[in-house]
Amino acid sequence: MIPDFDLVVIGSGPGGYVCAIKAAQLGLKVACIEGQKSPGGTCLNVGCIPSKALLHASEAYHESTQNFSKMGIEIETPKVNWSQMLKYKNEMIAQNTQGIELLFKKNKIKHIVGWAKIISPTSIKVGKQLISASNIVIATGSKPSPFTGATPDGKIIVDSTGALNLQEIPKKLIVIGGGVIGLEMSSVFNRIGTEVTVIEYLDHIAVGMDKEISKSFLRILKKQGMNFIFNSAVNNIKVKDNIALIDYLSRSNSTKSTLSANVVLIATGRRPFTDGLGLEDINVATNNTGQIIVNEKLQTNHPNIFAIGDVTTGPMLAHKAEDEGIAVAEQLAGQESLLNYNLVPSVIYTSPEVSSVGKTEQELKDEQIEFKVGKFSFMGNGRAKVNFSSDGFVKILADKKSDKILGAHIIGPGAGDIIHEICVAMEFGASTEDIARTCHAHPTVSEAVREAALACLD
Ligand code: FAD
Repeated sequence: MIPDFDLVVIGSGPGGYVCAIKAAQLGLKVACIEGQKSPGGTCLNVGCIPSKALLHASEAYHESTQNFSKMGIEIETPKVNWSQMLKYKNEMIAQNTQGIELLFKKNKIKHIVGWAKIISPTSIKVGKQLISASNIVIATGSKPSPFTGATPDGKIIVDSTGALNLQEIPKKLIVIGGGVIGLEMSSVFNRIGTEVTVIEYLDHIAVGMDKEISKSFLRILKKQGMNFIFNSAVNNIKVKDNIALIDYLSRSNSTKSTLSANVVLIATGRRPFTDGLGLEDINVATNNTGQIIVNEKLQTNHPNIFAIGDVTTGPMLAHKAEDEGIAVAEQLAGQESLLNYNLVPSVIYTSPEVSSVGKTEQELKDEQIEFKVGKFSFMGNGRAKVNFSSDGFVKILADKKSDKILGAHIIGPGAGDIIHEICVAMEFGASTEDIARTCHAHPTVSEAVREAALACLD
């Protein structure tokens, strides 16, 4: 019997929709099943796109209150119209998700709305509909990790989805977790007048980040008015008279304390979303955190079932999911495709932005690799100064003998964009001398990358 499709992709987030489109472009007959009405997954609906819309709008407001008058722009005191900000954010979601629907149509991908359950390695059920496929890609993403001390109610106790849809600007916000999502949402509300306190279990923010960057980042966020409580475990949240009461325990001196807030954002991480997918029935192997185990070709223990994106191992990032989607599509079309996970950049879209690629100093030390460091502060960059954004620096790590670039860490203006110069350089195995000898336009913030490369060369 000929299967209905060459490939069925479950989930239409950045992993799923990119995989489906690429496979269709390479000649495969493809269907993409999505449980939600709106395609695009976490990223487009409740993740990357809405959070960046609110970051952009709040940053524009902040810029207008802080820098406009310095530059000779006189305006009446700007005010935040929160409901319009939410409307703008929702319009951005709609534009992006409608774009996916158009791309599905254009590439003749069958878009099936409904929750999929895999019932055999070649068949899937959606409601009463049975679909057969030669290959299946699981791209079902992730959802917020459950928090034992409270359940989000969407109003006072929220997860990131709730925080993106708050109907009012909270006077006081407590954020549990100083990771990327917690810090981005903290920045949004801090800029528009909320008193923000981040409670973090560890003694630093943004786990995994280069230590020097992390310290500088914390100093800048504090200067912007955000409060931090470290080494503390939140164990219980109660709501009384519409106020959240947050009990936490200091891990350094075991003291118990309580804070109150109008809203609490639980940003303690995400876990793979495989509910109702039927993985146990067909014995798809997962690890102890629920991630689907795959080999370097992204195949599960069933060779024709693949897993990509947040549902499997590796960083929970949209671009990692996309690249995995492309890799699987290319393999199914008979092409070779492997990913270099060392070159997946990560970005925090605060102001200033923070980005990194490759190894941190600590990782190089642990691996006993001899390296050199080149740094350049944005204080010495003309363009950053003109733009009132000279906080931060570029740091490049290179092999001591060969000068090959091993990693880069940036905090400063445009960090999320200028990191890609280093990604490309590393992809081509370039040295810091290659970057230093490349002409960089003046005045640009990218010149700081060249200066950091020069600093590696004595
Ligand atoms: P998802 O985008 O989660 O999509 C999975 C889809 O599968 C969902 O639509 C779900 O409904 C569907 N699905 C699940 N089970 C089934 C089923 N059984 N049947 C049918 N459909 C199913 N990453 C970045 O790189 N940059 C950012 O700036 C960024 N910002 C973020 C901000 C926030 C607030 C959050 C929460 C996340 C952010 N991320 C960011 C992470 C990013 O959203 C994820 O890494 C990315 O969406 C993962 O893509 P995915 O395709 O694996 O899964």
